[in-house]
Amino acid sequence: MNKEDMITIDGPAGSGKSTLAKNLAVALGWNYLDTGALYRAVALWALENGYAAGDGDKVGEMAEKLELRFVNLSGENRVFISDRDVTGLIRTAEISSLSSSLSAYPKVRASLVSIQRRLGQYGALVAEGRDMGTVIFPWAKLKFFLSADPATRARRRHHQMIMEGQPSNLENVLADILARDRNDSLRQASPLKADPMAVVIDSTNLSLFEVETIMIGQAQKIFGSNFSLN
Ligand code: C5P
Repeated sequence: MNKEDMITIDGPAGSGKSTLAKNLAVALGWNYLDTGALYRAVALWALENGYAAGDGDKVGEMAEKLELRFVNLSGENRVFISDRDVTGLIRTAEISSLSSSLSAYPKVRASLVSIQRRLGQYGALVAEGRDMGTVIFPWAKLKFFLSADPATRARRRHHQMIMEGQPSNLENVLADILARDRNDSLRQASPLKADPMAVVIDSTNLSLFEVETIMIGQAQKIFGSNFSLN
């Protein structure tokens, strides 16, 4: 394995990246990297330390010194700031919105480059986010860009929250998705866009299984092994 033996999955909020990246990583026996969790951890730290959406320059400088870590506990990747497990605190609507705003600041993005690359230095990784194939791991041998129309993404996210027993309102979920789409696509620093080498998949009319099947097929072509879906 070398560092090019890697799969990147980029796409907008609610496109199914996390589930697909996790399943793909299991099928390949590779590690999984959720880079949104890093932006969310920075946003949590910012919130707890009195910073707001417009304080990205200051937050970026401070984030350089944060000790962010992933720890695999019972097969689940948990996010730590130093010795504190913050996994249960970073999925709120407030953190979604703050991480989306702060991630537009070049200093915040720069503060997270080295940790992401360090986690990918040995390859054998499925990395998901907004700029994996374009900026962080441009050398990845296989890149996907996953999209779906906003209403479909909102319905899926809403359903997922209800299944997890979390309160959810479909209209609010759609508004959040549209706002985050705008922030992610319009920012100057590493905007969300498909890498020219990416396999683009519009999953609006595809099931999770159909998208997984396409991805596994591509992985078999590039990496030449016999991967199977669980
Ligand atoms: O993927 P997730 O929704 O958890 O990401 C939270 C926020 O972090 C996103 O709204 C996006 O703005 C930002 N993000 C980013 N670049 C990444 C991953 C996430 O800008 N690679």
